[in-house]
Amino acid sequence: MQDGFVQYSNARVEGCCFWYGPKTDSNEFAITHLVFPKQINKRQNFTVPPEAVGEMSAATRPLSLINRAQVHAHPNRWVEHSPYDDEHAISRKALSVVLPRYGASIRAWPRGISVHEFRNDAWRRLKSRQASQRIQIVDGQIHLIDLR
Ligand SMILES: [Zn+2]
Repeated sequence: MQDGFVQYSNARVEGCCFWYGPKTDSNEFAITHLVFPKQINKRQNFTVPPEAVGEMSAATRPLSLINRAQVHAHPNRWVEHSPYDDEHAISRKALSVVLPRYGASIRAWPRGISVHEFRNDAWRRLKSRQASQRIQIVDGQIHLIDLR
């Protein structure tokens, strides 16, 4: 899972990826695909150009996958949503996950990781237990789509 972030943690820049899964009616869901779009990475932020967002849609639509979460990493252990994150979230329908330390160390999901949901006009952080209930991640069963 964190392998895709190695280049960012080595370069000490923020990076992002997107979690996709099959359609369900429930608000609990499994993550089956991990997508890394082309992106511009800086020490304190990152950008996904519009054409890179288009490439992600083109890669995931034929598989009937929907975007479940946008995932990005912060430089340190601080994993709250910044005002920049509130402004620049690519979608308010997907959850927003923040990884600590440039994504270098992800141990037991969701420890040390924050999950935010846009609800009632604001981004709110889910409790750890809610996050692990809502999102099922089975290690070794996630397909990587690397568009970089
Ligand atoms: Zn951020």
